[in-house]
Amino acid sequence: MFNDIKKKVSQFWDERLAEVDEKISIGKEALKIYDETEVPKIRQQTKELKTEFPPEFIKKCRVEYLEGKLKEVESYYAYCLEWYKELTEKDYPYYLKERSANDAKKALARLKKIKGELRWLENPKLDKEQITFEMIKIAKEFPIKQLLNTTKDFVKCPYHNDANPSFYLKGNFGYCFSCQKAVDTIDLVRHLENLDFPNAVKRLQ
Ligand SMILES: [Zn+2]
Repeated sequence: MFNDIKKKVSQFWDERLAEVDEKISIGKEALKIYDETEVPKIRQQTKELKTEFPPEFIKKCRVEYLEGKLKEVESYYAYCLEWYKELTEKDYPYYLKERSANDAKKALARLKKIKGELRWLENPKLDKEQITFEMIKIAKEFPIKQLLNTTKDFVKCPYHNDANPSFYLKGNFGYCFSCQKAVDTIDLVRHLENLDFPNAVKRLQ
């Protein structure tokens, strides 16, 4: 009798599990088809849309989207932490704690990514080099004459083979009356010391 019940229960679970397996495999198949056929279409449409709108508009949309996502992920992260706290306090099984810790970690990673992209959108390419607008301002205020070790208003142009001084210096600008090169301090230090933009800015602090 007891064995019969046991057999029935195990049969019942085997059937349920087979159902779940089937659903998962259908889900996977559907996802695969979606990835292979729908996603490329969406990508193509996005590409076409992008060419129709000005970059500033696209940037604004992206910022709005990211700000929305940021709020979403922030509250999800808070929820994960809450959950983890609860699991720890109530001494739930280890694997549940580990899962909730992992979820929190993933949410935090997503948060960082979103915040990073938002910073990057506001300050393209500079974030990686830790260059701020304040630093750029300081670099641009560097006296250009000091860069060329001179007190004169005209020096020989560093941009062409100058016979007579035709490079005019004023404030943080230089202009060559002969080759018409116009530069600021950052441009000039990049040229003189063969630096890229971030390093030129750092050099002028
Ligand atoms: Zn010149």
